[in-house]
Amino acid sequence: MSDDIHKLIIVGSGPAGLTAAIYAARASLDPLVLEGEPSSTTDQPGGALMTTTEVENYPGFPDGIMGPDLMLRFKEQAQRFGTDVRMEKVSRVDLSARPFRLWVGDPDAAEPTYRAEAVVISTGARPVMLELPGEQELVGHGVSTCATCDGFFFRDHDIAVVGGGDSALEEALFLTKFARSVTIVHRRDELRASKIMQERAFANEKISFAWNSVVDAIEGKGSLSSVRLRDVQTDETRDLPVTGLFVAIGHRPNTDVFKGQVAMDDGGYIVTDAGSRTDVEGVFACGDVQDTVYRQAITAAGSGCMAAIDAERWLEAQH
Ligand code: FAD
Repeated sequence: MSDDIHKLIIVGSGPAGLTAAIYAARASLDPLVLEGEPSSTTDQPGGALMTTTEVENYPGFPDGIMGPDLMLRFKEQAQRFGTDVRMEKVSRVDLSARPFRLWVGDPDAAEPTYRAEAVVISTGARPVMLELPGEQELVGHGVSTCATCDGFFFRDHDIAVVGGGDSALEEALFLTKFARSVTIVHRRDELRASKIMQERAFANEKISFAWNSVVDAIEGKGSLSSVRLRDVQTDETRDLPVTGLFVAIGHRPNTDVFKGQVAMDDGGYIVTDAGSRTDVEGVFACGDVQDTVYRQAITAAGSGCMAAIDAERWLEAQH
């Protein structure tokens, strides 16, 4: 363990964490960013945009930019002002007393790896995927988890949306602005979504339903060409030719290491006030780890800025 107590440790290096780092570094807080490890399923240095191709809705890039390029720029900007970014995954935290304690590596080690006066949590949330062969490879090439981000690419395409809740229907309705047809694939014969969303979906002539059905296989070389649907009652299968597949079966926040340390909602998202303050003084949260509504790079970056300013003001008030 280093004896140094860091003024601010930021956990996560997506748009939220790195924006917090840019602001914190420029406020002379010498932030340390623990960016996660590339091999893990929950973390991804650079965050969720590292797994995508073209990003067309991040302001400042009129011609669009590839997700990994955008995140490299975020990182370079944070490092330019002295941010220390380390490829380490936090395995345990103790936020019950100050300075806060954080472990990387062995969570059972007696001594923490780092101590900090303030902590920003920006560990994001991951979309739940179907876990089918070929799915990950086709993300950004037909497979998507975000209609707001990618709908525009599917003008006049035939699309399938998997899911039966409000977000699946919201995605499907949004996609009808662009797509030729949208098939909602749902494993049951009725939807979980609210009545009003159901009525809107039933009334939309571009939307049809594949009831009692699951996606069994994803086909396509280089880009998606079809999905195989299986009827869960009869086991019969059929191919649905689609060039877009939107997986809308939920998100999971990456908050396991913070359980019991900071207030969370039923879904495991960290609860913040109107800014970024959690129920633990000196601990702030930003980005998708506390956002169940917007889930965009720009909103994550905006809330990262808020977290850095909140942390800076809180630290200032302690001295
Ligand atoms: P994330 O970007 O998810 O970053 C989380 C960070 O936390 C990562 O660095 C991870 O390594 C780290 N982490 C997690 N656990 C730990 C741990 N225990 N220790 C250390 N670090 C940890 N949004 C748009 O605006 N436009 C788009 O075009 C767009 N396309 C998308 C395409 C895809 C395929 C996906 C999945 C998302 C897309 N989004 C898009 C959404 C956008 O990526 C997210 O809203 C945004 O990345 C959220 O930022 P974040 O910083 O909160 O979290």
